[in-house]
Amino acid sequence: MMKTPYYQYDIGLLQRTLSEAKSEASLYGYHIHYAIKANANPTLLGIIAKAGFGADCVSGNEIHAALSNGFSPSGIVFAGVGKTDDEIELSIRNDIYCIHCESVQELEVIDRIAHHQKRRTRVALRINPNVNANTHKSITTGLKQNKFGLTLTEAKALLSSTSKYANVEIIGLHFHIGSQILDMDVFKHLALAVNSIQEELGTQSLPYLNVGGGLGINYQNPELHPIPDFKSYFSTFRTWLKHGNGQKVHFELGRSLVGQCGQLITCVLYTKGNEDKRFVVVDAGMNALIRPALYGAVHRIVNLKKRELPEKFVYDVVGPICETTDCLGEEVLLPETERGDLLAIQSCGAYAESMVSDYNLRDRPGNEFCNAETPETIHL
Ligand SMILES: *Cc1c(COP(=O)(O)O)cnc(C)c1O
Repeated sequence: MMKTPYYQYDIGLLQRTLSEAKSEASLYGYHIHYAIKANANPTLLGIIAKAGFGADCVSGNEIHAALSNGFSPSGIVFAGVGKTDDEIELSIRNDIYCIHCESVQELEVIDRIAHHQKRRTRVALRINPNVNANTHKSITTGLKQNKFGLTLTEAKALLSSTSKYANVEIIGLHFHIGSQILDMDVFKHLALAVNSIQEELGTQSLPYLNVGGGLGINYQNPELHPIPDFKSYFSTFRTWLKHGNGQKVHFELGRSLVGQCGQLITCVLYTKGNEDKRFVVVDAGMNALIRPALYGAVHRIVNLKKRELPEKFVYDVVGPICETTDCLGEEVLLPETERGDLLAIQSCGAYAESMVSDYNLRDRPGNEFCNAETPETIHL
């Protein structure tokens, strides 16, 4: 048996999710880049690269991970408010497809580094469209008060002074307004905002338009909703987004591609209680899964040994870390749970293993790959 806690990935579900996303996007000629920060597990990266996706990176090390796991440089884009000179140098040297520039100073630095390398490099301007994603405030990125992107005024000034940046080719615009978005109206508003920004800047004639990611997944009932609604997502853009004839539309999806294919398997160490509470103490803590402590995220938790029993006891599922916020689930309904039971924390494919830390000097969780449709372990 695997040492707990560990991340278990359903490779069959991942492949079905990728193929559904790809076929819905292909209907309209849309391109998808996988947002590596959602999960940089090399096995998953290899599968996603092989399925024909590009990569969206937010650090130099993510660019290295993309390149060494099969993504082609021509499918890699690079975003982030704080790119270091080394990271910019790396992306120009590897001739990745595009750098998403987030400030005026950054464009000057990119231009200078490209000049040193005697190259001309492709850049898209990331614009903060001031569109509310109506999601958790910690994962909203497209409002004026957020740190991301250029203002419309800055972008306009840059586009009218391109001659100052001789080593940079501005190929288009980039947007990303937030994550875990389930309301298609939000994407409609983004599309309409992009249309008016493009009109104002006259960028429809440029070859590139990237509208980011953010499509959410169902955390309440992952078994019923294993694959996100890619059809509505892409068709919303198809209906509302206007782009130039020669302009290719790109997306950057993270959570929706990998979120449902992973679960964190953890073993119950102890149970205890007082007048008010029953606690289940497990061997995975915020070191293994920080989303509940970081954002108050709620994951469905099931007792794998007692799946047929009614879930009629209310527990707080807590980890071993010496922090009060180290609680993986508050007031979770479970069957009567005992030491030695295995719990599955579901919907843990995205922003879970990629945020693992060694806090309290705990071991990193291992990996198991399976295919739930043919229930045996896959050895990759
Ligand atoms: C995180 C991120 C994404 C992916 O977001 P998801 O909600 O996981 O789809 C896309 N683009 C950028 C720039 C990001 O920072």
